[in-house]
Amino acid sequence: MAKWFGTNGVRGIVGDTMTPEVALRLGQAVGTWLQPGDRVVVGTDARASRDMLKNGFCAGLHSTGVHTVDVGILPSPGIQAYVRSDGFAAGGIITASHNPPEYNGIKLVAPDGTETSRDQEEAVEAILDSGEFRAVGWSEVGSHAEVDDAASLYVDSIVRQVDADAIRKAGFTVVLDPGGGAGCLTGQLLLEKLGVEVVGLSCDFDGAFRDRPSEPTPENAQACMDAVRSHGAHLGFVQDGDADRAVFIDENGHFVEGDVALAIAAREELHRAPPDAPRIVCTPVATGSCVRDVVEAAGGKVVWTVVGSPVVARRMIELGAPFGGEGNGGFLYARHQVCRDGLMAVAAMLELMVASGKSMSQLVAEIPRYHLVKDKMAVPEDVKDAVLVALRERAPSEAGVADVDDRDGVKCMMADGSWVLVRPSGTEPIYRVQAEARTPEEAQALASRFRMLVEGLVRATVPRAA
Ligand code: MG
Repeated sequence: MAKWFGTNGVRGIVGDTMTPEVALRLGQAVGTWLQPGDRVVVGTDARASRDMLKNGFCAGLHSTGVHTVDVGILPSPGIQAYVRSDGFAAGGIITASHNPPEYNGIKLVAPDGTETSRDQEEAVEAILDSGEFRAVGWSEVGSHAEVDDAASLYVDSIVRQVDADAIRKAGFTVVLDPGGGAGCLTGQLLLEKLGVEVVGLSCDFDGAFRDRPSEPTPENAQACMDAVRSHGAHLGFVQDGDADRAVFIDENGHFVEGDVALAIAAREELHRAPPDAPRIVCTPVATGSCVRDVVEAAGGKVVWTVVGSPVVARRMIELGAPFGGEGNGGFLYARHQVCRDGLMAVAAMLELMVASGKSMSQLVAEIPRYHLVKDKMAVPEDVKDAVLVALRERAPSEAGVADVDDRDGVKCMMADGSWVLVRPSGTEPIYRVQAEARTPEEAQALASRFRMLVEGLVRATVPRAA
């Protein structure tokens, strides 16, 4: 069976692998999977190809007798909140998240607002492969309705989660940079409702991301860092194209590492969770040890997952965890909804600053410091799997290795508390090597050592594969 869905839905380059025909067929398949008369929420990020793909997807759904409700341009978590709000059968989000503007994609949402599970995606893929789509008669064709209440529904649901009065009294100034993406309107709306003075950068929808690339990296956050300093703001945040993620800038204009922000949020969510809630935080194996340290110090436990926020969300639901997230700016607050939710993270961070009386840099200073080194290396596609098998066998006997976690790549926990993770890329002929230690030198040495080990395994594997 062909695999259409990746970690984040169906994605490709517009006009190449992502065409109106693909959107139409996906709409037909999803509609066939659902029941005639069901209702599906559709929404988009701000990309130039948004309406082309949305219209194709909706036409496919209509042809199977499924109705669509169009929320327009909205952050992915806003669309997910809308799906949950009124008994919808599913959601379809037209987005390629942080990818460059030539990309776009379609992500499916389950009735509970979470991304569809792999089982559900396989069911849709089976229908796609069969090409057997339900086609209803003229009188049963699905309808299309546009609504304009989705942004306020999303923002209000976040405002209700926090002590809005206390935030209003604090007199915050906040810089937001949605990068011309789906977060342009909702970010300003949220901050205004929280009585925050807003300094907005790149707040006009821009499907070409002319101001900056969409990925919220430290390099792409430079304008926000500068604006925080020049405006004397208390906080800055930067979002990706579909605004499901947020990265933070402290009051001194310094980028807050994603793992550190995750640790700050995790500690707070454990602190405020009901006493009978499981004291669990779910996060992928690539997340830094600072999260584990603060979670354990708060009497909780980290449950590690494979990389990808839908997996984190599923695990949180299984375990009843109050919080989960990823070090790339992905925060999942069970008290609001179990999906990546950038604006919820902003509101929660402002609330924490008020409640603790601490600035962002003071909160950062409380989190243990580690140093992370990221490297990548070429590994031919035809030996990627074999090298991983060899590394799994070899890793436990390597000097200093105390434990091995091989649920996603191979992660070696060293006896001194440092760790190294070797993971094959899902899309390129490379392995990513990440090492974390107390000093940059130790992290670099660990990464280099495992890189050499893998290079040796590649050399040993290639002749066998040939
Ligand atoms: Mg995203």
